[in-house]
Amino acid sequence: MGLTLTQNSFKSFEYFTHFENLINKDYSKKSCLEELTFTTPDKKFPMSLLGNPEEHFKLKKNIKKNSVLSFPLNLEPASLSGFNVCPKSSESCRKLCLHFSGVPFQFEGKQTARRKRTRAYFENRFWFLRLLKIEIDSAIRKARRMGLDCGFRLNTTSDIIWESVRFDSGESVIEYIIRNGAFAYDYTKHTKRLKNPNFPSEYNLTFSWSGDNESEAIEAYESGLNIAIPMNSGKVSGLKKPEYLKLGKYRVPVFDGDSTDFRPDDPKGVIVGLDYKFNKNLSVSFKTQLADAIESGFCVDVKESV
Ligand code: SF4
Repeated sequence: MGLTLTQNSFKSFEYFTHFENLINKDYSKKSCLEELTFTTPDKKFPMSLLGNPEEHFKLKKNIKKNSVLSFPLNLEPASLSGFNVCPKSSESCRKLCLHFSGVPFQFEGKQTARRKRTRAYFENRFWFLRLLKIEIDSAIRKARRMGLDCGFRLNTTSDIIWESVRFDSGESVIEYIIRNGAFAYDYTKHTKRLKNPNFPSEYNLTFSWSGDNESEAIEAYESGLNIAIPMNSGKVSGLKKPEYLKLGKYRVPVFDGDSTDFRPDDPKGVIVGLDYKFNKNLSVSFKTQLADAIESGFCVDVKESV
């Protein structure tokens, strides 16, 4: 018994010293990536956590329109990785998630990278956050060199409460971004985030409609969030976005959310109308997808709107 205690104490001391060394050490991107490869079965990890803002079909619009270089963090949505990053998702939003957009032949590679990042977030959080901080710093430097503001959309394909995720200094990821002069914005299906007294007021959230969350959308609207709603407007249908939409007892002006992805510049008190996007990775036609999306309530039929 005495011997076991001594061994355990030694192990605890060893662990404590190792952890203290980890906290006090300076890290390079390379050393973080090396540590993150250990949790991957094939010992390979994506080259970065953050995506390229100049390649992302939605976020690249922010450069011209808003002079903001916006960096996405693409994880694997819902529970596809084995960890749930979208606790408020619905069947229709999971099916039509942004995750499935893009060129079909690139999908498998993208999905593998997103799965590894998501698993690393849950299984290797220490190194994930170290790397994230390094990449945030580097993104801000890059935007400055280009004469642009810097933005982060960390939930492009997830719905994590980033204001509660903290670096080992105790500062949250969002506080860190804001303190360094950058923007943070996201879509969310959580209604309670703004009610947290410690919610950083500079973090811009837009509530995300999924067809079966109308009462939450009303609650979010009443708490001051804009509501993003997909609609069958756009080039394919030839239909325009309506001027107003009904949300519970409210008649809410519709703002065109497609000309840019940078939501912090949107007016307050609006529905952010988004053209319904064709999911090329589903083996059904655009017409069928759209009909399903309208039937489920995920996509609003502008002909039926007020
Ligand atoms: S909550 Fe958002 S990110 Fe998650 S599955 Fe639904 S649409 Fe995708």
